[in-house]
Amino acid sequence: MRAAYFKEHGGSEKILYGDYPDPEPGPAETLVRVRACALNQVDMLLLDGRFPPPEGLPHVNGCEVAGTIESDTVKGFAKGARVVVFPGFSCGTCEYCLRGERTVCLRYGYLGAHKDGGYAELVRVPVPNLVALDERLSFEAAASLPLAALTSWHALVVQAEVKPGQTVLVHAAGSGVGSAAIQIARLAGARVITTVGSDDKIDFAKSLGAEAVVNYRTQDFVEEVRKWTGKRGVDIVVEHIGGETFEKSVYALTRLGVMVSIGSHDTHWGRMDLRQVYQKNLRVKGTNLGSITELTTVLDHVARGLLRPVIDRTFPLSNARAAVQYVLDRKQKGKVLLVP
Ligand SMILES: [Zn+2]
Repeated sequence: MRAAYFKEHGGSEKILYGDYPDPEPGPAETLVRVRACALNQVDMLLLDGRFPPPEGLPHVNGCEVAGTIESDTVKGFAKGARVVVFPGFSCGTCEYCLRGERTVCLRYGYLGAHKDGGYAELVRVPVPNLVALDERLSFEAAASLPLAALTSWHALVVQAEVKPGQTVLVHAAGSGVGSAAIQIARLAGARVITTVGSDDKIDFAKSLGAEAVVNYRTQDFVEEVRKWTGKRGVDIVVEHIGGETFEKSVYALTRLGVMVSIGSHDTHWGRMDLRQVYQKNLRVKGTNLGSITELTTVLDHVARGLLRPVIDRTFPLSNARAAVQYVLDRKQKGKVLLVP
């Protein structure tokens, strides 16, 4: 098959496009022909070596895949059936799986991280991870949802228990997580303030439902949150940047507020003023991904027009290097996709 892969760490120039061995499915796996694959920030960490692929190099990135079943032996799916792939792998037998908390499985892994992913014509997938794709959803729309939108859904709806009338700070409206989180918070009846890195993303952020937009390069987001909430602070912060953004977010929260930490796309490190945590009785909740049931709920909301998949650009797989550079340059407004 053809794939966009890398065999050493670095920037987009390390992405190679060419022949790559066909994936060989194991006993409980099948092959999916990739029709669309979305890029994610975690791809950049895998590429530059901050999160080196556990199975080593060469490696094919790509966590979010929609496509068709390549085999005629998959129970419940005909050959050619349209599917979207749930990207998390769990063992089903460890203490946490047995407690129903598969995202903290002792042997947890992601498509495109712990196994080769969807920057390719074919990908091997555990059969339980296949989700039938509604005819109303395009492959591109479906591929834009299973990691970023699902993670945002789980963070806001399940972990932070967002409620009508609450206020939410969503970092990075232009990102996949941010563009989904704004819409999900609005769907729940909350009000949203968000951040962007350039003024040309302000209208985009508002079109998703954000009431206030802060350019974090020219404005202090804590000050702007305080102004927007009449000095009160927000009930929830959706944090996925790390470093100074994480550190300052604690000052943007009101008493009894919740910070959901769902990524560390700039740095894995962040300090915290603990006085803020105990004096304001804050909750800091780590979260990753969500359940397959939540993914089908997200897909259903999109099919019914209640959530909008935010797709910025589609690149041919052969031009994956340009797609990666586009994301590294932080140019995107929503998801960037590869199509073989
Ligand atoms: Zn497990």
